[in-house]
Amino acid sequence: MNSYVEQVIAYVEEKYAEQKEFVQTVREVLTSIAPVIDAHPEYVKADLLKRMVEPERLFRFRVVWTDDEGNVQTNVGYRCQFNGAIGPYKGGLRFKNNVNESVMKFLGFEQTFKNSLTGLPIGGAKGGSDFDPAGKSDEEIMRFCQSFMTALYRYIGPDIDVPAGDIGVGGREIGFLYGQYRRLKGDFENGVLTGKGLSYGGSLIRPEATGYGAIYYLDQVLKHEKDVLVGKRIAVSGYGNVAWGIMKKAAQMGAKVIYMSGSRGYIRDEEGIAGDEKLDFILKLRESNSKDLKSYADRFGCEYVEGKTFWGAKDVDIYMPSATQNEVGLEEAKKIAASGAKYYLEVSNMPTTNEALAYLKNQKQMIIAPSKAVNAGGVGVSALEMSQNAERLSWTAEEVDMRLKEMMKGIYDKSVEAAERYGLGYDLIAGANIAGFEKVAQAMYEQGVF
Ligand code: NDP
Repeated sequence: MNSYVEQVIAYVEEKYAEQKEFVQTVREVLTSIAPVIDAHPEYVKADLLKRMVEPERLFRFRVVWTDDEGNVQTNVGYRCQFNGAIGPYKGGLRFKNNVNESVMKFLGFEQTFKNSLTGLPIGGAKGGSDFDPAGKSDEEIMRFCQSFMTALYRYIGPDIDVPAGDIGVGGREIGFLYGQYRRLKGDFENGVLTGKGLSYGGSLIRPEATGYGAIYYLDQVLKHEKDVLVGKRIAVSGYGNVAWGIMKKAAQMGAKVIYMSGSRGYIRDEEGIAGDEKLDFILKLRESNSKDLKSYADRFGCEYVEGKTFWGAKDVDIYMPSATQNEVGLEEAKKIAASGAKYYLEVSNMPTTNEALAYLKNQKQMIIAPSKAVNAGGVGVSALEMSQNAERLSWTAEEVDMRLKEMMKGIYDKSVEAAERYGLGYDLIAGANIAGFEKVAQAMYEQGVF
C-alpha cells in the first residue's frame, strides 16, 4: 500500500487508540483510496490525508434539564463538523447512552464521503448526546431538546451546519429542536434542520428515504447480476426507521422481508413483514421505545426468538444489517457466508467489523455493498428538503421518490465506474470510497492549505 496512506493510518491508530470506531472507519476508508493517492502525488505534498482525518471542529457542551420528578439531570452534547469543503456541514444527531467522541468522529468521517457520493453540495458532520430517550416522557424529551438546542443554535444555520435525525432522534425530537431554534433566533429559518414535520417544511418521503434508497440500490446490484428483486427473501436487522422503509419498498417491488430483529431477539414471519397493518404496528412499537418485539409475534401469529440473532439463517437471499454499528462480527460473518446467501448490503452505519468485512470480501460468491452508498438516500432526501425550504416549495411524493431513485442509481453507477477506473473490477466498497473521496479531496486541495 502507498506509504503515505500507511503513515496516516498509523498516526490515527496511535493518536486515537482509544477511539475504536473512529480508527476502524479511517482504516477502512484510507485503505480503499490508496490508489487515488498513488495517482495524485500533489495530495501527499499538501498532506491532505492528515488534514482530512482531523475534524474541522469538534465541540462538546453541557445539556441540563429537569426530569418529571423535578430532579436536575446533566448530559453531554456533541457536534462534530468534520469537513465543509464541498458544502455546509450536514449530518444527523444521535441520542443514545453509548454516544461518545469516537462514535461522533466515525459517523462524521463516514458522512463526509457519503454526502459527497450523493452528488449534492453538502459537507459532513454528526452530533448527538449520551441522553437516551428510552423510557422518557414527551415532556422530558421536550425539555432535553430545548436545552440541547439552546447550547447549539449559535453554531448551526441553513448555510453553516444542518443537523437531522439519527438513532433516538425522529420527527418528535426534530420538532422540539426546531421550535427552540425558532424561538431563540426569532426567524423562520426552517432550512436549519431536516427531517421536519410536513406542517413546517418537511419533505414527503423523508421518513422512508433511507430504506427506499437501500432497495433502489439493491435493485441496481441485482440488475448487474442479471437477477430480480421479485420473490427475494430478505433479512433486516432492527425494526427502526430504516428497517421500516426497507420493508415498505421491498413489498412494493415484490420482495419479502422475512426476518427483523431488536436488541433482545428476532422475528421470523414467513408471510412477509408487509401491509399497512404490520408496518403501522412496527412504527408504533418503535415510537413507544418499549423494545417489546415479541408483541408483533403475538399479534400476527409468527415466530419470536428471544436472546438470539438470525445471522446465518438458510432461508434468506439477501442480508441487510440496518440496526447499529458493529452488529456483524467475525462469528456472524462466518454464519452468513455459510448460509449460501449471495447478497450482503450494509445499511446501518458501519454494521460490520473490519475483520468480518475482510472475511466476507474473501467469499468470492458474495456481493457486498457498503453502507455509505446504500444508506445515502436518507441524507440525499434531506438535501432535497433543504432545496425545497430555500425555494419555499413542496414537491410531491412522486417527484421526491423519482429524484431519490435517480440519486441511488447515480451513486451505484459512480461507485462501479470509480472502482473500474482504478483497475479494481466490480468492487462496490472501494468504488464508493473512491468516488466519495475524489470530490472532497479535490475541493480541499483547490481551497489551499488550512
Ligand atoms: P432507530 O433508532 O429508528 O432503530 C434502530 C433499531 O435497531 C431499533 O429497532 C433497535 O431495536 C435495533 N437495535 C439496536 N441494537 C440492536 C442490535 N444489537 N441488534 C438488533 N437490533 C438492534 O434507528 P434508524 O433506523 O434511524 O437507524 C439505524 C441505522 O441506520 C443507524 O446506524 C443509523 O445511523 C443509520 N442511518 C439512519 C438514517 C435515517 O434516515 N434514519 C440515515 C442513514 C443511516 P431495540 O429498540 O430493540 O433496541
